[in-house]
Amino acid sequence: KTRNLERLKGKENITQSGQKIDICANIGNREDIENVIRSDAGGIGLFRSEFLYMENGGKLPTEEQQFQTYKLAAESMGIKRVVIRTADLGGEKQAACFEIGPEKNPSMGYRGIRVSLEKEDMFKTQLRAILRASVYGNVAIMFPMISTVEEVRSAKLLLERAKKELSAEKTAYNKEIQVGVMIETPAAVMISGELAREVDFFSIGTNDLLQFTLGMDRENERMEKYFDPHHPAILKMLRIVANNVHLEEKPISICGDMAADLSLTEFFLQIGIDELSVAPGQVLALRKKIREIQ
Ligand code: PEP
Ligand code: MG
Repeated sequence: KTRNLERLKGKENITQSGQKIDICANIGNREDIENVIRSDAGGIGLFRSEFLYMENGGKLPTEEQQFQTYKLAAESMGIKRVVIRTADLGGEKQAACFEIGPEKNPSMGYRGIRVSLEKEDMFKTQLRAILRASVYGNVAIMFPMISTVEEVRSAKLLLERAKKELSAEKTAYNKEIQVGVMIETPAAVMISGELAREVDFFSIGTNDLLQFTLGMDRENERMEKYFDPHHPAILKMLRIVANNVHLEEKPISICGDMAADLSLTEFFLQIGIDELSVAPGQVLALRKKIREIQ
């Protein structure tokens, strides 16, 4: 079976009737970069940068350390795009180098972009590292856990400040770097039209979107059987986001676990999802599914 899938390497992600969709891969550690290359994915659709903070012996990763890792990913992927998500710390992603302190409800607490916007220095260090790496390949930046337009504007402002610093230092970076946001709160779904006027691209984080829409902890094993990606509310939300974003002529991807659910591939194609980003090991099975669809 694996050998059959191997034969799909180098082939297009295209349905029988000619509809195309991109397949990218998610990475959550340095070693995954190799897995992505072997997977024949069209790029890295979600670079979960948290691992740099969680696996660094309790110390914050320096700009240089981060730069080296982002550069490696960018260079390894060549012309293929690498979407680096800024640190999504907090919630179920606790890092020893960054004490958040006890919270009654960490997944609905101090996390993601909220942390980044309060810890400006830490955030700017990461943005500088990403910008510096952007000249070594096709790098884009994505902000996690967005729930307001103001968060996006503040994050973009800090990005501009990081760019100014680098320019003043005569350090190279891609001045046209693309900026995207994750749609993973119901609020972001409802304001996706407004968000589409602020950024270049979108990716739906269905793991958190399910958690917040269904009101079920994504880590709670007792909830597993109720944690239903086929829930009509979820499917409706995906359709709404795709419409809103496409009205502004911006692309939309899905990077949550749901992207690899082959019983939903046809639905994703129907609503015009532009890209699915899945674990490296799931790329070829998804390609096979797409190529079988009418
Ligand atoms: C998601 O929430 O679906 C997502 C892709 O991000 P993470 O799983 O890292 O929270
Ligand atoms: Mg998430």
